[in-house]
Amino acid sequence: MPYDPISKPHLSSYKVQPNLPDWDTARKSHSWWDIYKELDWLPGGGLNNAYNAVDRHVVKGFGDKLAMIWAGKNGEEERYTFREFMEHSGKFANALSSLGLKRGDRVFIFLDRLPENYFVSMGTLKAGGVIGPLFSAFGPDPVRDRLQDSGATILITTPDLRKKIAAILPGCPALKHIIIINKNGRSKEPLAGGDLSYEALMAKAPADFKCVPTSQYDYAIMHYTSGTTGKPKGAVHRHQAVIQQYITGKWCLDLRKEDIYWCTADPGWVTGTSYGMMAPWTNGVTQVIYEGGFGANGWYDIIDKYKVTVWYTAPTAVRMLMRAGEAPVKSHKLDTLRFIASVGEPLNPEAVVWGNRMFKQAIHDNWWQTETGAIMCANYASMEVRPGSMGRPIPGVEMGIVDDNFDPLPPGKPGLLVVRPGWPAMFHTYWNRDEMYNSRFKKGWYITGDTAHMDSDGYFWFQGRADDVINTAGHLVGPFEVESALIEHPAVAEAGVIGKPDPIAMEVVKAFVSLKPGFEPTEQLRRELIQFARQKLSAAVAPREIDFLASLPKTRSGKIMRRLLKARELGLPEGDTSTLEDD
Ligand code: ATP
Ligand code: MG
Repeated sequence: MPYDPISKPHLSSYKVQPNLPDWDTARKSHSWWDIYKELDWLPGGGLNNAYNAVDRHVVKGFGDKLAMIWAGKNGEEERYTFREFMEHSGKFANALSSLGLKRGDRVFIFLDRLPENYFVSMGTLKAGGVIGPLFSAFGPDPVRDRLQDSGATILITTPDLRKKIAAILPGCPALKHIIIINKNGRSKEPLAGGDLSYEALMAKAPADFKCVPTSQYDYAIMHYTSGTTGKPKGAVHRHQAVIQQYITGKWCLDLRKEDIYWCTADPGWVTGTSYGMMAPWTNGVTQVIYEGGFGANGWYDIIDKYKVTVWYTAPTAVRMLMRAGEAPVKSHKLDTLRFIASVGEPLNPEAVVWGNRMFKQAIHDNWWQTETGAIMCANYASMEVRPGSMGRPIPGVEMGIVDDNFDPLPPGKPGLLVVRPGWPAMFHTYWNRDEMYNSRFKKGWYITGDTAHMDSDGYFWFQGRADDVINTAGHLVGPFEVESALIEHPAVAEAGVIGKPDPIAMEVVKAFVSLKPGFEPTEQLRRELIQFARQKLSAAVAPREIDFLASLPKTRSGKIMRRLLKARELGLPEGDTSTLEDD
């Protein structure tokens, strides 16, 4: 049995002011139970995240409000109100029930960012199933691994994606049904024998669906982690995670009813479900969904055209926008933006400075992980942003820094970043890996796997992944501070830093750098960068070696894979690369 610290939730007696609590007041006056009451519970005490994201707005008289504006990759546009969303997801829930879906059955979703992705996700949740989102750029092997590990019984995909993974399907015996979505007849591919047509199922399913009375403890979503440090593991979340997703939508993204919100993350990653589905929709906010990929002009077009007000993105995207420069910013009208946030990797201070110049506001970094299910630590709208810091823990969440024996360290001292168990969105296990799950709890803390320090005002400063920290001649160096120093140089677009084994210093700092357009990888530039880093950091911490790369290896969620840089440098096996982005 997984260890269950949630049965001891945080309790205190005051009330938080929704939207922008003053951090210090809110922290002292927080009760999760007050927030539980802001959601709608089902008769008999059940809680269902999709009901709270969709149906409840219709029940409360907001059915005509726009839930989704979909911008297709070929220029298509579709708009759906909360009522239409309820009906489409209701139909799909009915279709699943008629296929015999039982509470807790896993339904895996291998789709692009189509409106149907959201209909089937919400429909499955309303029907009591557990969704397993898969990033559509995955090749056959990562899909097979996840289907086999989870024992999914239903797979939902498109004709093209099905073709891509056809060879692995016979190896997934638990799969009972494959449902094929042929969006607007995009594909001429005939339905394979035994497959079910989504369009046909929907045509005969009634729209009225009474949400299955799931308990707050029922499993709702399983996400395989990004695989930045190792093999992805299936973190399982319960319906009650929605409580924290809802409130952090208000607190950390400052969502308000009138907002047009855009989360650039794909639902294949946890940001794309917690903040690309649950947070905006439980707050009744209209969300833009863009099917296309990254491109500075294409992205600014979306903000300009749909008058986006709140934008949640990732450091890798910000760095790509920085690389594209000022011209595309100038040629768009971006002044509707009033709140920008970022997650997934440390946000380099230089990126915050750049954001301030381009958008006349700070980019608010926040920290969380697949396992935490929702934002844990954030630069709130009401706080002073300290560039390079990931902010302070949200009310009700206690974070700490501990040493290798899991004993607390004082402010200023770097160590392991830990969280007191019991936050509502906490994962409940790693699927089929209870032992690994249990090993993440020590001395009453959840061990995040990251290292950081806390300053005397309670701001947390990310240092690195525990595995990535470099020990050079007795100095502990976080790769992030070296990377951040390097990207302050005008020639540098991205930097990835590793520790390279060294007979004398134990490890030396080695950097891999990609350059901005117009710069050449010369010996002179290499020397200049080393000199530049020495001035900013110190000779002990600055990179001893720098290699130029056209681009750095990244996960599909956009994170620099330092372990891969290291394996390649040392000629070691590359390990699990299922989430590696194509070059
Ligand atoms: P795996 O656990 O499989 O190696 P992963 O840790 O990259 O993959 P995620 O859960 O998607 O998978 O990422 C969470 C991690 O991302 C955090 O533990 C942290 O290392 C990093 N991260 C997220 N947000 C921030 C942030 N604001 N600042 C610094 N690091 C961040
Ligand atoms: Mg992780």
